[in-house]
Amino acid sequence: MVSRVTDDYQSMVVAGCAAVCEPAFWAGFDRSSADGFYDYFCQLTEHEPKRAAKFGLPHYCWLCINPKESEDVKLASDVIALIPKFLERQTVLGIGEIGLNKNSRNEIKVLEMHVDLAARHNQLILVHTPHLEDKLKGTRLILDVLRADSRIKPERCLIDHVEEHTVKMVLEGGFWGGMTLYPETKCTAARAVDMIELYSGERLWMNSACDWGVSVPLAIPYAALELRRRGHGAESIDRLIYQNPKRFLSQCPKFKLPDATL
Ligand SMILES: [Zn+2]
Repeated sequence: MVSRVTDDYQSMVVAGCAAVCEPAFWAGFDRSSADGFYDYFCQLTEHEPKRAAKFGLPHYCWLCINPKESEDVKLASDVIALIPKFLERQTVLGIGEIGLNKNSRNEIKVLEMHVDLAARHNQLILVHTPHLEDKLKGTRLILDVLRADSRIKPERCLIDHVEEHTVKMVLEGGFWGGMTLYPETKCTAARAVDMIELYSGERLWMNSACDWGVSVPLAIPYAALELRRRGHGAESIDRLIYQNPKRFLSQCPKFKLPDATL
């Protein structure tokens, strides 16, 4: 939501969104110091929840230095050292989106540092998988890193941006899979519904890309329309777009939806 205007919050509330969960991401430019990340973490944990609350929308976030900026290991370790004190904040769900971008050696090192941070603080993990030709290899490398740490439970990790060629290995490993919806490029609602129909949707959910490219904050309500068009009933749609994310996110005791706090 850092890249979005306030009207987007209003549209999401009107469309029935119950909460927004924002991963730490790239600012559209590389930050030059750990201080830039300190300010960003304040923005994610203080400013954005206030902006969303004006429209009655609970705002949660994930913290990390994202893979796109993980090539500089010294900068990454300085940023990771800032994170523990932010983990105490009420709207922080865990560590993410960590993962790989170009599958480089330094990125893997920084991924391992994040996984260790999550394990030491018993945090949920949100993982970014690389796009295009790097995705298959990158997803394999990421699952290897997670499996190599015996403290990590796969059911507490969401592997995001799965596609047709990676979804099976993610689900078979006991992890959750996230399908990030874009209007045209990458995963569309129609492709996401194909994957749901092939793999039952037990540990799958969809999320909307809201980044610096063309992307749609209402991607989930539109995907619900696609599900209905394909013959899914109200109960099945509710499970996929509401109960599944709620089930995964509720593993963090801080995650509460308005109806759960009444
Ligand atoms: Zn991502």
